[in-house]
Amino acid sequence: MTEDAIRLEALRKTYKGQKGQPEKHALKGIDLAVPRGSVFGLLGPNGAGKSTLINILAGLVKKTSGKVSIWGFDQDENPRQSRASIGVMPQELNLDPFFTPRAALEVQAGLYGVPKSERRSDEILRLIGLEDKAHAYARTLSGGMSRRLLLGKALVHKPSILVLDEPTAGVDIALRQMLWENVRQLNAQGMTIILTTHYLEEAQEMCDEIAIVNQGEVIARDTTSNMLDRLDQRSMIIHPACEVTTLPQADGIDAELRADGAVVLRYHSNQTSAEAVLEAVHTAQITIRDVKTAEADLEDVFLSLTKSV
Ligand code: ADP
Ligand code: MG
Repeated sequence: MTEDAIRLEALRKTYKGQKGQPEKHALKGIDLAVPRGSVFGLLGPNGAGKSTLINILAGLVKKTSGKVSIWGFDQDENPRQSRASIGVMPQELNLDPFFTPRAALEVQAGLYGVPKSERRSDEILRLIGLEDKAHAYARTLSGGMSRRLLLGKALVHKPSILVLDEPTAGVDIALRQMLWENVRQLNAQGMTIILTTHYLEEAQEMCDEIAIVNQGEVIARDTTSNMLDRLDQRSMIIHPACEVTTLPQADGIDAELRADGAVVLRYHSNQTSAEAVLEAVHTAQITIRDVKTAEADLEDVFLSLTKSV
């Protein structure tokens, strides 16, 4: 028995090429474990493979090879239990225009074999703020309401794991806040949450742990605070007026003498101020001819990670 909510081993997905296009290696051997109880972020640019991964978990896309285990159930050996353990809010709107929200929840519950006595449609409508739209036609719902209904549909069978694929892409601030409120509440009740996003700030705010996916590979996997630490890295590049003999030394500053004579000082802006860095430069009796700073952003992290692989 594993303690992980999700465990992926060497997961691959190759889409067949269409109309003379080459085949697409969307997932190139993903190994990933998502701990139970966490809010886990899959972060990566468009085309990274996030939806492919999510849709494999949801049983909507067939993997090419590898192992998928959901709540301890192997997806191939125990398809029913693994499906029952997970609820997915897809990236695309896929609502039937002829169902009212309440009917859509009931139908979904039926699909998951939830007996009538255990259905919670009204409770879910309350949670997603659609009580007063319970009997409205789906086609009269706004985009935001439709997305809330998708969240509701993902919850009908009380899954242990809730997966949200780009839940806030293109939604307004009010809905975004409502979604995050829902997510926090569900997580506080013990639900494991996995969400994908290409907004860094969103992942920072919501997630305990993050995996960065790029071109079908996990290129980093860490707690959010460790990941932020990397993002918080700054460099100051000093071009000295004369040759440097002593490098600046101070806590939290990593100094390096470059071949061209410049001094590169790396530090974390949440621990060390630029002023403290300059002070260390003065203490080392370096006269500054020119100074430049560079701050790491997500792209730098991508670049530095892909280079080191
Ligand atoms: P993300 O969700 O991170 O934006 P996707 O999983 O949607 O990424 O896509 C990953 C890659 O797989 C992209 O290059 C995309 O064009 C390709 N892809 C996705 N779905 C299909 C499909 N049904 N057929 C062929 N290629 C696909
Ligand atoms: Mg996607």
